Amino acid sequence: MAVDTAAYSEQTDIQRDITEMVRQFVDEQIIPNAEHYDHEDSFPEPIVEQMKELGLFGVTIPEEYGGMGLDLTTYAMIVEELSRGWISISGVVNTHFIGSYLLMKFGTDEQKNHFLPKMATGEIRAAFSLSEPEVGSDVQGIKSTAKKGEDGKWELNGQKMWVTNGLGSSVVFVLMKTDTKAEPPYKGMTCFITEKEPWVETNSGEYEGLIVPPKIKKMGYKGVESTELVYDGYRCPPERVLGGEEAGVGQGFVQMMDALEVGRVNVAARGVGIAQRALELALRYSQERKTFGKPIAQHQAIQFKLADMATKIEAARLVTRKAARLKDAGERSDLEAGMAKLLASETGKECVEECFRIHGGYGYSKEYEIERLYRDAPLLLIGEGTSEIQRMVIGKKLLQRYKI
Ligand SMILES: Cc1cc2nc3c(=O)[nH]c(=O)nc-3n(C[C@H](O)[C@H](O)[C@H](O)COP(=O)(O)OP(=O)(O)OC[C@H]3O[C@@H](n4cnc5c(N)ncnc54)[C@H](O)[C@@H]3O)c2cc1C
Repeated sequence: MAVDTAAYSEQTDIQRDITEMVRQFVDEQIIPNAEHYDHEDSFPEPIVEQMKELGLFGVTIPEEYGGMGLDLTTYAMIVEELSRGWISISGVVNTHFIGSYLLMKFGTDEQKNHFLPKMATGEIRAAFSLSEPEVGSDVQGIKSTAKKGEDGKWELNGQKMWVTNGLGSSVVFVLMKTDTKAEPPYKGMTCFITEKEPWVETNSGEYEGLIVPPKIKKMGYKGVESTELVYDGYRCPPERVLGGEEAGVGQGFVQMMDALEVGRVNVAARGVGIAQRALELALRYSQERKTFGKPIAQHQAIQFKLADMATKIEAARLVTRKAARLKDAGERSDLEAGMAKLLASETGKECVEECFRIHGGYGYSKEYEIERLYRDAPLLLIGEGTSEIQRMVIGKKLLQRYKI
C-alpha cells in the first residue's frame, strides 16, 4: 500500500517508455512477492526469469552483442525503479552490470565475443570481487595472489569476501595481486575473469580450485546471496586476464576503480529508489492513521517530515542523473559519482527511518513493508565504498580540481 508520486523528470521517449514498463513490472511482480522471498531468504528465480525476458540484463550492452545499447543515465532510471520495489532485485543485476562494463571498456575482442552475448540475455550472470575478510575500503591491501605457472596459466590463491551473486554467477571478475612487491601496491594488481559453474559450491574439472562457502547470513538484502569465495590453486588461462596479458597485467586496480565509478551511480540510484518507496508508504499511512481526531498527515510535524523526504529525494535524484550524464558524455564523473552515492544512500537511510517513525509501532511489525526497507537501507551506506570513503574521494577531487 503506497501512494504513487509522479517525480519531476526530464526523460527521452525511450527512457519514459522503458521506465514505465519497469515500473509496471515492479508493481505487479516485485512488490507483491518481495515479502515472501525476503522472509524465506530465497533467490527470486521467477522474477529473475522475467527480467531476462524483458532484456534487463543487457540494458547497457551494445546491440551488436544482443543488448539494448542504452546509456548509464537510462540504466540508473531502471535501477531506481527496481530498487523502489526491492533493492535485492537491483543487486542481482548490479554486479552483472559492473562485469559487463569492465568487458565493454577493457575486454579484448575475444573476451567481448565470448561473454557479452550470453550476458546480454542473462544466460550467464556476473559477480565482481575486490573485498577480502581483512580488507574492504583499503583495496590496495588485498592479499589474494595470482602467479604465472610454467604452462602459461595463472594460479589464483586467496579468500574473497562479500561476493554478491557469489554462488549463482557463472563468471567472477576478481582482483588479485600479481606483483606483491610493487610500489605503490596498486601497480601490481590484475583483474582475472574467472569462470565457474553457477549454483555449485565445489567446482571441479576446468574450474577446480574455486570453492563457494555457505552464504553469509545478513540482516537484510535477502534473496540475493553474498558469499565468500576461496581460490585454492584455481587455474586461469592467460586469455582470461581482463584486456589480455599484455594490456591487462598490473592494470586491475585502475580498471576496477573505473568500474566502481559507474557502480556508485548505480548504488545512488538504488538509494533514490528505496527513498521514493519510503515516501510513497509514508504518504499513504499518514493519511490513513488518525490521532487526536485527525489523520496524522494533518499534524504539521508529520507534514514537515514528508516535505523533507520529498525535497531530499529530488536532490538525490538530480545529482545521480547528473553524475550519470557526465559519464555518458565521456567526462570524468568521479567527484559527482561520489557525491551522488553519498547523498542518495544517506537519503535512502534517512527517508526509510522517517517513514518508520511515521508508522509508529506498526513500523516495527513484519506486517508492514517498511520493516523490510529498514533492514535493507543500511547496506547502501556500505557497498561500493562507505560514506566516509565517499567523503575522502570528494575531498581529494575538490582539492585536485581547485588547486591554488
Ligand atoms: C551485503 C554486502 C554486499 C557486498 N558485495 C560486495 C561485492 O559484490 N563485491 C565486493 O568486492 N565487495 C562487496 N561488499 C563489500 C563492501 O564493498 C565493503 O564492506 C565496504 O567496501 C567496506 O569495507 P569493510 O566492510 O572492510 O569496512 P572497513 O574498510 O574495515 O571500514 C570499517 C569502517 O571504517 C571506516 N573507514 C575505513 N577507512 C577509513 C578512512 N581512511 N577514514 C575514515 N574512515 C575509514 C569505514 O567507512 C567504515 O565505517 C559487500 C558488502 C556487503 C555488506
